[in-house]
Amino acid sequence: MTHDHIQPLSKGGETTFENVCLACRSCNEFKSDLTEAIDPLTGETLSLFNPRGQRWSDHFVWSADGTRVEGLTSIARATVVCLRMNNSVIIVARRRWVISGWHPPID
Ligand SMILES: [Zn+2]
Repeated sequence: MTHDHIQPLSKGGETTFENVCLACRSCNEFKSDLTEAIDPLTGETLSLFNPRGQRWSDHFVWSADGTRVEGLTSIARATVVCLRMNNSVIIVARRRWVISGWHPPID
């Protein structure tokens, strides 16, 4: 896991508990210094999901087979696309984790 600045340092964010979260390397690199993304369903530009201010389970669910993150809200759909949360590499890894009983996590 890496440390992600929710509001990037380059955009005035600070290294505080409220502004830093853990993120996998892939999500962190795709997020880069972005704070907004487009909901693929509505075309609306929205702030990315904020793990410090919003609850994951209010916005996301796991697909029935446990391999894909599905967005329940506009924010979640935009975040899934922006961070490429269902890229082919992570899908393969999740499939193995499901078989091993490690995934999906229990909230
Ligand atoms: Zn990730």
